[in-house]
Amino acid sequence: MTSHKSRAGASVRKRIVLLGATGSIGKSCASVILANPGRFQVEAVVGGRDGAALARTARELGAKFAAISEASGYADLKAALAGSGIEAACGKEAMEAAARWPADLVVSAIVGAVGLGPTFAAIECGRTIALANKETLVCAGTPVTKAVQKYGATLLPLDSEHNAIFQALGSRDASEVTVMTITASGGPFREWSAERIAKATRAEALAHPKWSMGPKISIDSASLMNKGLELIEAHHLFAISPSKLAVVVHPQSIVHGLIAFEDGSTIAGLANPDMRTAVAHCLAHPGRVASGVPAPDLIALAKLTFEPVDLDRFPALRIAREALAEGAGAPTALNAANEIAVAAFLDGKIAFGDLPVIVERTLNAMRAAKEIDTPDDVAAALAIHHIARDRATALLA
Ligand code: NAD
Ligand code: MG
Repeated sequence: MTSHKSRAGASVRKRIVLLGATGSIGKSCASVILANPGRFQVEAVVGGRDGAALARTARELGAKFAAISEASGYADLKAALAGSGIEAACGKEAMEAAARWPADLVVSAIVGAVGLGPTFAAIECGRTIALANKETLVCAGTPVTKAVQKYGATLLPLDSEHNAIFQALGSRDASEVTVMTITASGGPFREWSAERIAKATRAEALAHPKWSMGPKISIDSASLMNKGLELIEAHHLFAISPSKLAVVVHPQSIVHGLIAFEDGSTIAGLANPDMRTAVAHCLAHPGRVASGVPAPDLIALAKLTFEPVDLDRFPALRIAREALAEGAGAPTALNAANEIAVAAFLDGKIAFGDLPVIVERTLNAMRAAKEIDTPDDVAAALAIHHIARDRATALLA
């Protein structure tokens, strides 16, 4: 199937909602959509605070509705959309209205647990959701996957490792998999000593060797917390037990995910390190469209290498693994504390080496205070999320 067909047989454009339209993933979506005229109709776009950028995106993509989170960006959004016929709105309800807009696919690419509200609204509408916003699953994995079942929604993994595994799995059941491996580039500090990593600057941490991404995930990639979040994400997306999940460092970032079976077979997903490939896969699913990215040229690459992760130099991954194994509200608290710590690092308030310390101390304090019970629903997850944010914020002082 290459496009939706109406009953009369005419091609119908796939209707898309873009949450996080102005970000790195949002731009990759826009690139693939604009490269495939006639295939997609962007219905609504959502952004954080830059009203002018959101208006530009809305105009470029021909959206009907643009919702911005922060009131500070609303005047710019309205001014820049004047005369366009595109409706502008602001705030949490506006973002959720965009998420509920009639559509065939909702791309969830807001950064952080703040993306949970709009993503959940799309789930309640039974939508197909291309999920880039991993924090949604780390914060509220069980409530979210339960709601996906209840409302008949579908999650398409947009994170590159999970997208590769999803494609490798095809119609197989993940229960057949004996080991599910996600790869890590190793980030900018792969070969640095622990002492040097602890003192890394903002610019050094943002300079990812392989991927061009937003600031939060770039810092998570430098600390390897991103891999920890991704293990938790994989656990929920594929209903796979934590003991079957593995991480391997692969500096070339060509192999993104692998699934092994008891007979010794392994199926891997390969692509160049450019999110337009996973974006195009999700946008066109179950069809295919051009992404603008060529397939990997193995002869030109010549060498693909793999190495183990050093958990001593990258304690964030150890801490995340422990939270995954512990379950209950531990991943929720982990994610919230990490969001606070990363924002503080980006603001120049803490050192790079403080990131895992703040996360671990927050978790330990919450364990001691019995504040990480299993969240049965999104409200319970958000309650844990807010306690963890407060505790992590207090640790910054
Ligand atoms: P980004 O910072 O480039 O963009 C974030 C988007 O979210 C922007 O549109 C921003 O305006 C919006 N946003 C920020 N705060 C908001 C708020 N309070 N309310 C509403 N919108 C808000 O981030 P990104 O790199 O595009 O990443 C987005 C998500 O995708 C993250 O969860 C990230 O982990 C995930 N992801 C990104 C990549 C990548 O290559 N960039 C790869 C895999 C997964
Ligand atoms: Mg990833």
